Amino acid sequence: MAKKVAIIGGGIAGVTTALVLGNRGVEVTLYEKNKTLISGPPFCHLHAGGNLYREISDAQCATLLRQSIDFAKLYPQAIDKRPTVIALPKYDKQDPKELLSRLEFLQAEYAKLIESDLANRVLGEAEDYYELFSKEELLELLDAKEKSRPQSNREWLIPFAKSIDFERIKFPIIVVQEYGINLFRVGAVAGLVLEQMPNVTIRRESEVVGVQKRKQAFMVQSKEDKKSFDYLINAAGFRTGIIDQYLGIKEPRLLEFKAAYTSRWESREDFWPEVIFHGERGTPRGMGQFTPYCDGYVQLHAMTEDITLCKECLVKSSEDGSYPELSKELLEIIEYGWSKEKYIKRTKRAIDYLAHFFPKFKEAKVGSQPLYGIQQIPGDDPSRRVAEVAFPMPNYARCEIVKVSSVVDMVKEIVKDAAVAKATDELFDISRLKKLKESDITQRSKTIAQKLNYPVEMSYRCNEFSI
Ligand SMILES: Cc1cc2nc3c(=O)[nH]c(=O)nc-3n(C[C@H](O)[C@H](O)[C@H](O)COP(=O)(O)OP(=O)(O)OC[C@H]3O[C@@H](n4cnc5c(N)ncnc54)[C@H](O)[C@@H]3O)c2cc1C
Repeated sequence: MAKKVAIIGGGIAGVTTALVLGNRGVEVTLYEKNKTLISGPPFCHLHAGGNLYREISDAQCATLLRQSIDFAKLYPQAIDKRPTVIALPKYDKQDPKELLSRLEFLQAEYAKLIESDLANRVLGEAEDYYELFSKEELLELLDAKEKSRPQSNREWLIPFAKSIDFERIKFPIIVVQEYGINLFRVGAVAGLVLEQMPNVTIRRESEVVGVQKRKQAFMVQSKEDKKSFDYLINAAGFRTGIIDQYLGIKEPRLLEFKAAYTSRWESREDFWPEVIFHGERGTPRGMGQFTPYCDGYVQLHAMTEDITLCKECLVKSSEDGSYPELSKELLEIIEYGWSKEKYIKRTKRAIDYLAHFFPKFKEAKVGSQPLYGIQQIPGDDPSRRVAEVAFPMPNYARCEIVKVSSVVDMVKEIVKDAAVAKATDELFDISRLKKLKESDITQRSKTIAQKLNYPVEMSYRCNEFSI
């Protein structure tokens, strides 16, 4: 049984593992090179069904659905309860009806999850998992008054109907119960709970610069000291390959740099759903994503090479499976941030891209620096969206999540390997987490947003979610 555990990396993978192991009384040291926890690549969407990804298998979608429900149960305070609208642009090759078999499949999967455990009903009733709306139904909403707290899909669609260019999309449109996640609130919740655990040491601004295996122990070298542990968890995100290299392990993986841009649309109504315009990734008509935050802020993705993606943004490891090399320019953005000139240019492009569908959105302004980062994908399939953890040597776990919702399954595997407890759902019943006060979460998430140079409004949750 692992007694002294080192975790390298304070992203969602590292902090969730620390929360669960810490709650079981394990002595945990969490190393994070940055000033704040959860300061790596961003996340805003729960992916409860993977409906943003037409190219992935039904099996991956079903796993994302189940894992997202587990994630929402673990971090309910960070979930923004707003549905997602899925629209096909007029230029898209598909007919909306072609998306129905996937939705019906997911609805049936969701019904089974509820049947196996009523606590899984976090996205509402299974029969309400998705709903279709015709052009006529949307036109009827043009005279409706926006609701300050939408109660039905129809009410959620009022601001959408008033802003969409009806000539640019196909009908019906789909409303699906895929919710949002507020990353600042995840950081707040995790930090507040970990700080209460006497057996967890959080070492912020502490970079691990070497690891050696000595008999049964791992010697972890940070810039400040060298310490011995009997179990090592590599949760270093896109840098997991560097830690592998210290231990002589080579594994193929992909790294992808991506950015989401922040705009402010002052005249926007407060309660908006998230909106997806499907498109072929990497082409000039890649998927567009409109993610509402509070107070008019909107995060934008456009999966084209001159907005969210770029030519040199996806790199794979060499033949022998070593750490993939990203360009110096991209690594400098990660270390030192964006040049204002560059991000303003890309944000304006993103605004124009979404204004094709919402003409009034043209008036939106640049909101702040982008949310950006490098995502790791284990193996060599860039469309892979589900992965958890690997155990390349005894007492060593390498976290490999692609989407944040995979952390619950990931932690269960680690707990099993480290033999600290039975890998059951009770592991995630963390009373300190449930007892957190809303005012403390709000205050801490504001501080995190300020430290990371984002508007504090982005740390607020617009829509309540309770389970
Ligand atoms: C633009 C963009 C949008 C995204 N949107 C979504 C989304 O909507 N939904 C979703 O589910 N996923 C999304 N993702 C993916 C998601 O961000 C990642 O899956 C997730 O953040 C990975 O978490 P992690 O803990 O594995 O890694 P990270 O968050 O990268 O954490 C690793 C941590 O390790 C630290 N570290 C690294 N090396 C060392 C070292 N030597 N010593 C000490 N510390 C070290 C780093 O500083 C970092 O904080 C998005 C990714 C990007 C790039």
